[in-house]
Amino acid sequence: MGKVYKYLPMAYYKTIYDIDYEKYYQYGKRYILFDLDNTLATYDQAICSDEVLKLIEKVRSLGYTILIISNNTKERVDKFIEPINCLSVPRALKPLKKGFKKALKLLEITDVSEIMLVGDQIMTDVYGARKLEIDTILVKPLKKANENWYTKFNRAREQRLYKRIKKKYPHVYEELKELIN
Ligand SMILES: [Mg+2]
Repeated sequence: MGKVYKYLPMAYYKTIYDIDYEKYYQYGKRYILFDLDNTLATYDQAICSDEVLKLIEKVRSLGYTILIISNNTKERVDKFIEPINCLSVPRALKPLKKGFKKALKLLEITDVSEIMLVGDQIMTDVYGARKLEIDTILVKPLKKANENWYTKFNRAREQRLYKRIKKKYPHVYEELKELIN
C-alpha cells in the first residue's frame, strides 16, 4: 500500500455542505474538482438535486470554477450535470493520473495550488489527486449500501489504511474516525 501520508487528505468534513469554501478561496483555491458518486449524490440519484445545485451556485458565486471528475460512465455524468452545466471528466480511472491530467487540461490550469478535489474515497480520489500534488478534501460517503464490487474492495483497503493511520498518526485518526461508519 505504500506510505500512509500519501493517502491523507488536506481536510475532512462530514458533507459537501460543511466545507468552508470561502476559507479555501482566501487560501488561493479557484477550481474545485468534485467527485460524483457518494460525494454529490448517491449511486441511484440520476439527476443533480436542487440542494446540490444551490451549493454549486453558491460556490460559483464565490469565484470558483467547477469540474466533475468521475470513474462512472459518460452517460451517468452527462445526465447528472445537465442542470449544472460544467466541465467533466467521466471514466476518469482514478487513482490513475490520466483523468486528473485531463481535468487540468480542460481547465487550462498551470498552477495546481489553485485546485482542490472534493471526494469520498481515499483510495481513488485522495490518493490519485495527491499524485499530481492536488490538495484534497475528504467527505463521508453518502450511502455505502449500493456501491459496486470495486468500490467495496477499495472500502476494505480503506479500513486497513485507517488502522495504519490510527497507529502512525493518532491525532489525524481522531478527526477522521467521524467519517468512518
Ligand atoms: Mg465517490
